Amino acid sequence: MEEVVAQIQALKKTQDAVILAHYYQQGEIQALADITGDSLHLAREATKVKNQVIVFCGVHFMAETAKILNPSRTVILPDLKAGCSLADSCPAPRLRRYQEMLRENGRDFQTVTYINSTAATKALCDWVVTSGNARDIIHRIPADKEILFVPDRHLGQYLREETGRPLILWDGACMVHEIFSVGELLALKKKIPGSITVAHPECPANILAHSEFIGGTEAIIRHVASFVDPTDFLVATEPHMIWQLEHRHPRHRYHPVPGITCACNDCPHMALNTLEKVRDCMANLSPEITWQPYFDQASEVLRRSLLN
Ligand code: SF4
Repeated sequence: MEEVVAQIQALKKTQDAVILAHYYQQGEIQALADITGDSLHLAREATKVKNQVIVFCGVHFMAETAKILNPSRTVILPDLKAGCSLADSCPAPRLRRYQEMLRENGRDFQTVTYINSTAATKALCDWVVTSGNARDIIHRIPADKEILFVPDRHLGQYLREETGRPLILWDGACMVHEIFSVGELLALKKKIPGSITVAHPECPANILAHSEFIGGTEAIIRHVASFVDPTDFLVATEPHMIWQLEHRHPRHRYHPVPGITCACNDCPHMALNTLEKVRDCMANLSPEITWQPYFDQASEVLRRSLLN
């Protein structure tokens, strides 16, 4: 492993590359990244990058977003097959047909997509949101408009309650967040009295109902930081997040909330990226995200929603 890390460090210089890594990547990848963050943070950082090459350690829609927001850079990712079950649950052709059906039925609506969607899907939407800015953006939509929210039904349900807006929900979900077990969570709470449960709003309502704090990954980090005394946190999001929490706030203890069918909820898409693949994509400058015709429209929506 040390040899591969040394090769990656050397390639950073020879290829003028910067490494961005999502919090759900394996710890060894986060450890050698120049910038770590959630989707929003990485998207914003990607606009400021001066290096010619952006190595995006995350999944495909995130690398697309980096390319769209910084088109003059070469954006590569370790494994082109690193997709996302949530993004895949709302393919653009199906969304287009559904929007047409709503319009034919006289519905007057705007479409809001969670950032976990493909660029082709974003291009069909009015707004792109993250768990951090969703409430603000939904409040900006005139009250006489309906809102179609895609693709995550759990986040959509949570936002319905938070904003009081009757969102039309798309029936998508993240395979990782969907399988947390409420029974296991309650058992863990009993086993560790005084523990605080922090959950991502992509989790189903029964998990959120038993959580003391609900927020995206950046919000979870800020929340944990606010506890001065060592505390036990039960973490209901992708468990590699715990590497970042231990790295930043080592005084606390972190326990992953188990899934229904397995002991862990590792994202299988993020897991496709390995150190060897990071090295190889940097050496070959491939696989690369290339500009697609629908990126222009997706760019307009992304900039309006996340940068302005
Ligand atoms: S954790 Fe879920 S939403 Fe995130 S990349 Fe994996 S499948 Fe997609």
